[in-house]
Amino acid sequence: DNLKNNVDLELLKKNLNKILYVIQTKVIEEVEAEESETQILENKIAGMSNKIKLLEDHAKDLEKTIHKKHMEAITDTLTGLYNRAAYVQALEKAWMKWEQEKIPSTMLVWDIDHFKMINDRHGHAAGDKVLQSVARKLETGVRKGDMLARFGGEEFVMLLVDKSLEEGVQLAERIRQLISVTEFTYKKQELHVTISCGVASFFEKDTPTSLFERADKALYCAKHSGRDRVESLKVA
Ligand code: GH3
Ligand code: MG
Ligand code: MG
Repeated sequence: DNLKNNVDLELLKKNLNKILYVIQTKVIEEVEAEESETQILENKIAGMSNKIKLLEDHAKDLEKTIHKKHMEAITDTLTGLYNRAAYVQALEKAWMKWEQEKIPSTMLVWDIDHFKMINDRHGHAAGDKVLQSVARKLETGVRKGDMLARFGGEEFVMLLVDKSLEEGVQLAERIRQLISVTEFTYKKQELHVTISCGVASFFEKDTPTSLFERADKALYCAKHSGRDRVESLKVA
């Protein structure tokens, strides 16, 4: 009886070992399967991270391109100043400030005197150089928040936000004098250049168009009273 008991115990031990072995193998198999799944997921995540980085780089490039194209669209290539399109936007903004907050703005319209004569006498390239040099002189009067644009051929416009008509006239006078005393040169030829300016400020029910028309009218007065002058017009 004792012997039989011993044999049963031995058998039980053997079976138990077998079962334990099967369990162990199963567990190892499961762990291995899980590990390989984790690896696959990790690889996928790494791949996605790479793709995100590429997309981010691409978005940055696009942003740069858009900024460059935008700058091109609002810049005058000859002088590097803002162009007419930029001026139209700035004028609209200034007008809103006038309408909504009663912040005044003063407009200066500039036109080089007898510019056709400069072209005729010295050539178109000389005219181009004069346009660039005059642009640099005009820039000396522009402060942060102001805008200076080449409006057309030899016409420029300044928009002085939060400045009065009197301040605008003073600034215009200073720049007019500066240009008048400057000796411009082209291929060692001396060119005397003068410029006329019309000044106007937002008044009551002005619109962007009516402000420009008044400043342009003032410019016309400056031309007709002898050029190399600044004229301003107070009311519409
Ligand atoms: P005023 O004193 O009355 O303004 O006379 P003006 O000769 O300046 O005016 P007008 O409008 O008769 O002539 C402007 C000239 O500007 C004619 C045109 O050939 C020239 N022009 C326009 N754009 C350019 C440009 O980009 N380069 C050069 N060199 N000339 C230009
Ligand atoms: Mg003109
Ligand atoms: Mg002119």
